[in-house]
Amino acid sequence: MKAVKKKRLTPLGRILLGLVVVIILAGGIGSYILLSNHVEEVQEIIPAETDDPKQEMTANLIMVGDALIHSAIYQDAKQADGSYDFKPMLEYIKPIMQEYDLKYYNQETILGGSELGLSNYPRFNSPYEVGDAFVDAGFNLVSLATNHTMDKGEQGVLNSLDYWSKHSNVYTAGSYRSFEDRDKKVIQEVNGIRYAFFSYTTWTNGLNTPSGKEYLNNVYSEELARADIERVRDEVDIVIVAMHWGTEYSTGISPAQEQIANYLASLGVDIIIGSHPHVVEPIDFIGKTMVIYSLGNFISDQEGIERLTGLMVNVTIHKTIDDGVTTIALENPEAQLIYTHSVYGRKRNFKVYPYTSLNEVLLPNYHTYYEKYRQIVCSRSDKITMPDLGG
Ligand SMILES: [Zn+2]
Repeated sequence: MKAVKKKRLTPLGRILLGLVVVIILAGGIGSYILLSNHVEEVQEIIPAETDDPKQEMTANLIMVGDALIHSAIYQDAKQADGSYDFKPMLEYIKPIMQEYDLKYYNQETILGGSELGLSNYPRFNSPYEVGDAFVDAGFNLVSLATNHTMDKGEQGVLNSLDYWSKHSNVYTAGSYRSFEDRDKKVIQEVNGIRYAFFSYTTWTNGLNTPSGKEYLNNVYSEELARADIERVRDEVDIVIVAMHWGTEYSTGISPAQEQIANYLASLGVDIIIGSHPHVVEPIDFIGKTMVIYSLGNFISDQEGIERLTGLMVNVTIHKTIDDGVTTIALENPEAQLIYTHSVYGRKRNFKVYPYTSLNEVLLPNYHTYYEKYRQIVCSRSDKITMPDLGG
């Protein structure tokens, strides 16, 4: 190994070396300052972009139709101890609900409770346990204005409202304790999306609310709907209106339905959820307003496949705030069919099935029915998708 001889610096050499070191350091600092300035320039641009970032929010909504609780259904739900359990009837629906934020159904028959005496058509009265099953399945939007709301008079309505008031996570509309309650501005929020929900009926079966107590059941009028909607329209992203309307057992849209749908669309309603015909009707769009003319029955003991078949419709509400401007879009509207199955001549084991879970034993020729009702549902708009049954 060759020894390296150390070379000693002269005093001048030391000074020169010192200068070189100073120059290098100065250059380094200068470069750092330049670089810092450059970074600062870049950072000045970023805040300008992130100051008001684009915000995206979504909530998904699923809707089913009429809970029409005939005597065979509550007799089937009756337990040995005299209580009622409707939860098994929703066994195949509950798992589907867990995927949604807003879950709507129409409580067609009044939940007046067993204390008023349960009853069948034409003046229904249903036990509170019906509500328990829907709450258990996750439903949180319930329309209460129907042609059966007054079936048990004012007491039936008050019992129903007492029942629902115990479920603070459930938002009901269409039936109230006072004009003050009815006219109160109620705005709900889900995932940053603000919404309002109203419910009206065009039919009362001649059972009118007592004079001066019209708040018990919201009978539709343009004046009432307009006042309700204008009260909230500028403060919410979405207005949802449940309409109890149309012609019973008709899969066609009546002129009255069409007129009301156009009027509500003109007021800026986003989603109109129709019920009462007990069979499915088309889904359409009037401009941006989604109109489900009839969801049909969710559960009933009515006769015939047409009345045992209903719709389950879902849609994603997409809110975007960009540069201070909010836009709302209804995306991916989808529809599925459901079927109320029971055994022993429509007496026992009532259960609601998605058509996708049916088989030839539960409903022979179910593919044929599916195609028949799919054609009706999709006859007005090509924006609706319905799954293929497969199998
Ligand atoms: Zn009805």
